[in-house]
Amino acid sequence: MARIQLESVSKKFGSSFALTEIHLDIADGEFLVLLGPSGCGKSTLLRLVAGLTQPTGGRILLDGKDITVVPPRDRDLAMVFQSYALYPHLSVAKNIGFPLRSRKFSRGRIADSVASVATALDLSELLDRRPAELSGGQRQRVALARAMVRNPGAFLMDEPLSNLDAKLRSATRTELIELHRRIGTTFLYVTHDQVEAMTMATRIALMDNGRIEQVGTPSELYDTPKSVFVAGFLGAPPMNLFDATVTAHRGELHAVAPGVNIPLGIEAGAHTDQPVTVGIRPEKMHITDAPARLHADVTTVENLGNEELVHIRAGLNTLCIRASRPSLACVGSPISIRVEPTDVHLFDPETGRRLI
Ligand code: ATP
Repeated sequence: MARIQLESVSKKFGSSFALTEIHLDIADGEFLVLLGPSGCGKSTLLRLVAGLTQPTGGRILLDGKDITVVPPRDRDLAMVFQSYALYPHLSVAKNIGFPLRSRKFSRGRIADSVASVATALDLSELLDRRPAELSGGQRQRVALARAMVRNPGAFLMDEPLSNLDAKLRSATRTELIELHRRIGTTFLYVTHDQVEAMTMATRIALMDNGRIEQVGTPSELYDTPKSVFVAGFLGAPPMNLFDATVTAHRGELHAVAPGVNIPLGIEAGAHTDQPVTVGIRPEKMHITDAPARLHADVTTVENLGNEELVHIRAGLNTLCIRASRPSLACVGSPISIRVEPTDVHLFDPETGRRLI
């Protein structure tokens, strides 16, 4: 078990910062996912926790103990890499037992530990095979078994599913969630895949450009994004974002743009006449045959089988609606759209920060 804390951690490569002033407190037993676009610093952060690289500034604590300069092998953390890094000439059993052999455990103890981890990960039948004789998913499980065998305080994983095909990825995702529930060990997991983050994490730390933009449960990030960046990164298709002005109308505020007028359910007062970036998720725009304030022309309809993505042009903006099938949308025809005031997000167009 392990609590991992990063205090003011920075990392510079040459003159550029890969990480700036990172503060993160990962509770014992959490499944924390580091999510973000390529190059945002996820792997660097993970490598700092693993001890594979040193921070330029700040401290890293493991269960309250400063481990900033402690070598990797003394950190009680196990790393699982994207490439699995298995030894090709060793059997599955020897690969799994490797960390214990290098720590000079007795043969009997190694055999017991390997057998127990192999049972837990459904590898018992494969112990005599070499890595080349395994499928991608099996190799991934062997890499995980090798990490589990010494019962580490935490697992550090860098995109461990990225070499698997879509079906196996989804199955292995479920296995990892189940494994975490069963063993309750801290997981620190790097991915750029929002589906992995949303489905597996107890909390997500969404990163951009060397900084943490927001930390919270998947629902907190999805439902209450702190910035335009978070709003646009999570969700597929992404949140509709467009510029508007907050305008008072009969004592109530509306978000108004050419061809768009959305009541915000807020009494006129603060924010009146303020320029804003409006955010509305595609599934929160409802096509209706009742009177509505938002009217638009349908430009394209994508049939996804169980639902439709309806693309509309409202004034200057092209927006996307996610509707169940069959919807009232017909290419070239106008439609009316209802949006609940509570489903409208408002951001400051200058800073990108959430206003309401
Ligand atoms: P990806 O998802 O593509 O793996 P990432 O979010 O894990 O990206 P990092 O690998 O942590 O990003 O890289 C963060 C930044 O630091 C990038 O700009 C990268 O080019 C730079 N960087 C990483 N390692 C080094 C290094 N050893 N030397 C110089 N720059 C580096």
